[in-house]
Amino acid sequence: MADCLFCKIVAGEIPSTKVYEDEKVLAFLDINPMAPVHILVIPKEHIPSLDGVNEENAPTAAHCLAVAAKIAREKGIAQDGYRVVTNIGAASGQTVPHLHFHILGGKQLTLSLG
Ligand code: 5GP
Ligand code: ZN
Repeated sequence: MADCLFCKIVAGEIPSTKVYEDEKVLAFLDINPMAPVHILVIPKEHIPSLDGVNEENAPTAAHCLAVAAKIAREKGIAQDGYRVVTNIGAASGQTVPHLHFHILGGKQLTLSLG
């Protein structure tokens, strides 16, 4: 999608610090980390949010989750525990309308819904 920040990152038009890449998925460091480990996993295909996931593209979304779990193990945060978050729409605070899963870990997390 032409005007989408994360599509531009997928296309290499905006630089990112890549953590993982395959034909369907890209993972990169969040530019404004909220935890010692804060990585975003996105489908290369433009899906606006989880609200845009359907039977057709669900395998890609599921693959994002499998990649998130793999990255968490590789980064050494799986044993202590971590969080995977996806925001959907304005009321959730979603700022980039391209499906992304936040991997957050490396510290004790609290549940803040502010
Ligand atoms: P959201 O609030 O939509 O769930 O999350 C968007 C995330 O994208 C935020 O955590 C924000 O820091 C991150 N972000 C925004 N712009 C960029 C960018 O240009 N590069 C990277 N690496 N992350 C970004
Ligand atoms: Zn996009």
